[in-house]
Amino acid sequence: MASVELRNLRKTYDKKNWAVDDVSLTIPDGELLALLGPSGCGKSSTMRMIAGLEELTSGEIYFDGQLINRVPPQKRNVAMVFETYALYPTLTVYENLAFPLRSAGWAKQDITKRVDEIVDILGVQEFLTHKPRELSSGQSQLVGLGRALMRQPNVFVMDEPISHLDTRLRSRMRSYIKRLHLDLGYTMLYVTHDQEEAMALADRIAIMERGKIVQAGTPQEIFHDPINMYVGGFVGEPPMNFLACQAERQNDTLSLSYKGHAIPLPGDTAATRQDIPRDVVVGVRPFYIDSAPAPSDRHTIPADVFVVEAMGDSAVISVNAEDTRLQVVTESHTTIRSGDTVWLGIDPAYMLLFDQVTGARL
Ligand code: ADP
Ligand code: MG
Repeated sequence: MASVELRNLRKTYDKKNWAVDDVSLTIPDGELLALLGPSGCGKSSTMRMIAGLEELTSGEIYFDGQLINRVPPQKRNVAMVFETYALYPTLTVYENLAFPLRSAGWAKQDITKRVDEIVDILGVQEFLTHKPRELSSGQSQLVGLGRALMRQPNVFVMDEPISHLDTRLRSRMRSYIKRLHLDLGYTMLYVTHDQEEAMALADRIAIMERGKIVQAGTPQEIFHDPINMYVGGFVGEPPMNFLACQAERQNDTLSLSYKGHAIPLPGDTAATRQDIPRDVVVGVRPFYIDSAPAPSDRHTIPADVFVVEAMGDSAVISVNAEDTRLQVVTESHTTIRSGDTVWLGIDPAYMLLFDQVTGARL
């Protein structure tokens, strides 16, 4: 296994746009890093450059401190799993697993030993004699994973490996991959556009936007401490609420309002922050807003209830506060109904402030 370091990695296909734009990132040995971002932001291009399947336009890639820019893909020993797993249709599962070792010229008894090892880890004993067409999509993907793992790789990269599976199978495969990582300790780069997958799986997440890494951090850091509105809005379901507000300073105390409705600030922010512009955006996750039937010191923002969605263990209330749609997560037995008027309160401890112009966290 190896650490991976990307230095100022760039890629252009058309000499006009940067598909990957100055990406620098270190993945320590044994870490599972998720590369997260919307379609087209440059995730696969980054991954393919690491695997050696794509030329770098500029920059450097190091495995364990060794520059590997000029090392051909087959010598990099990068295991890859893609969304479409290409198993050999005429070979059995066992033969599919043994194939990479046979092509590498392994001795027969070593092959048997290694295949048994991987079969054990994957738990695919029952269908070793099956052909790929006899497998479900989840089973095929397991075998695909297994085959990629046969030759103990330096680095294990996966590009949206479970995006095509149905929801239930996806969450099973997700915990499976996480466990695999814990058991094997490989350095893994996991590419996904699914924030929930990244949050659930990764030791660290690197969020990309238009070829650049916007923020890298643990799932907790990304979730609670986003550096801008893009990151804040990208992770979390239901997504973070954003409310365009005005900040005013009087007698050295900062106060905040949304269309004339005062919003209580955390005490230390009100007293000490000197750097807050007039136009700010309040970001707050739906879990950290609550509603009351009447106004109070805390519940200051009137809102009309648009719909209430019963989620079983909770309910999601969508409201219109003046002209902004917000979502509030509340307890499942709520008596609130469409058409009600409620008063919203934001938990000051979980309120984030952003610059309305740049979107940067304040
Ligand atoms: P992602 O995996 O995040 O969806 P990609 O790395 O596939 O993003 O693509 C990043 C950008 O590069 C996109 O604008 C895409 O259209 C472009 N791109 C990717 N691969 C090629 C290619 N082989 N030739 C030309 N343009 C490409
Ligand atoms: Mg892709």
